[in-house]
Amino acid sequence: MKRRRFLLTSGAVAAAGAAMGALYWPSRWRYIVIHHSAGDFATIEFLQEVHRVRQSGDPIDAIPYHYVIGNGNGLGMGEVASDWRGELDVWGAHVSGNNSAKNFLGLGICLVGNFEENDVPEPQFEALVALTRSLMQRYRIPPDNVLGHGLIQGERTKCPGRNFPMQRLRSAIA
Ligand SMILES: [Zn+2]
Repeated sequence: MKRRRFLLTSGAVAAAGAAMGALYWPSRWRYIVIHHSAGDFATIEFLQEVHRVRQSGDPIDAIPYHYVIGNGNGLGMGEVASDWRGELDVWGAHVSGNNSAKNFLGLGICLVGNFEENDVPEPQFEALVALTRSLMQRYRIPPDNVLGHGLIQGERTKCPGRNFPMQRLRSAIA
């Protein structure tokens, strides 16, 4: 199991040291950002591997999100999974450098699937609503701070996909 492998290069050690308080500051969460994985299959290990390739400069060797919700292919349908980024409340790597505050202050939730092409399966959507609501309650995050990735200004992505029912999510968490 590579889940807890923690890679730190020497340059990153100083930065991480300076931010150590932030690493263990779980009450800071102010946003929830919703993503899709843009693929039909995912496990935690698979997403860790993708992250290593796509963002090889990230000293945090973990999935870029805090939670993943499965679609029955790899992870179970509606199954909520995370690795140590989420378990230890480490900052996210799920939005671009244009929006560092959303990484630092935003919990990332990724639904496995490609919602540019497909619809969100109902049990997966229900799991998202339940998770989002419980996080909103735990960290006192207002509904307006629950965001779709591509709707954040400065982000150039279609994530979480044109078929993602953002309005429906808005009503469900209002
Ligand atoms: Zn995204």
